[in-house]
Amino acid sequence: MIEKAQKALDILIEGNRRFVNGETTVSNRCVDTLKSHKNGQSPIACIVTCSDSRVIPEMIFDKGFGDLFVVRCAGAVIGENILESVEYAVDHLNVPLVMVLSHDDCGVMKAAKSMYPKEPDHLQLLIRSVYEIIDSETECYNELARNYTLTKKRKLLKRSEILRKAHHDKKFEIVRGYLSFETGKVSIL
Ligand SMILES: [Zn+2]
Repeated sequence: MIEKAQKALDILIEGNRRFVNGETTVSNRCVDTLKSHKNGQSPIACIVTCSDSRVIPEMIFDKGFGDLFVVRCAGAVIGENILESVEYAVDHLNVPLVMVLSHDDCGVMKAAKSMYPKEPDHLQLLIRSVYEIIDSETECYNELARNYTLTKKRKLLKRSEILRKAHHDKKFEIVRGYLSFETGKVSIL
């Protein structure tokens, strides 16, 4: 892994360790920090994750204003808006690390798992996207959520020339993470 990405990942892992152990510093969350970033941002990482109210990157990584560029939608399904947002983070903000973060008890994974293989009558874009990787081997929706991070990582590179080139030029790395609601720990997959 490139050095800048490894450094960013170490910071996230250390922040998550503090969160899990109840040692959060809650730094960078005051008006003064916000004010210090009023003319620009240089976040250390881009987190691509679900809109789920229990998945709050700044909290689980013990971070604050200006630290993380967070791209969210239900199920963190990779559509055009998500893709361009990640391109912005990599190409304009020069983040060295993108984390595709999945989590326990994801509503989109659950819905896809229960509807498969019927044509979805709601959440069509989201469900169809998850259908791409469902097979009879997939035991539970949490396993599905974990597996799906690999598809998302591949899609980011496959569907964006900007990301593909930046990745090839070793400007950033993509890692996959999974948040446990039981422990608060983010495991790197
Ligand atoms: Zn979710």
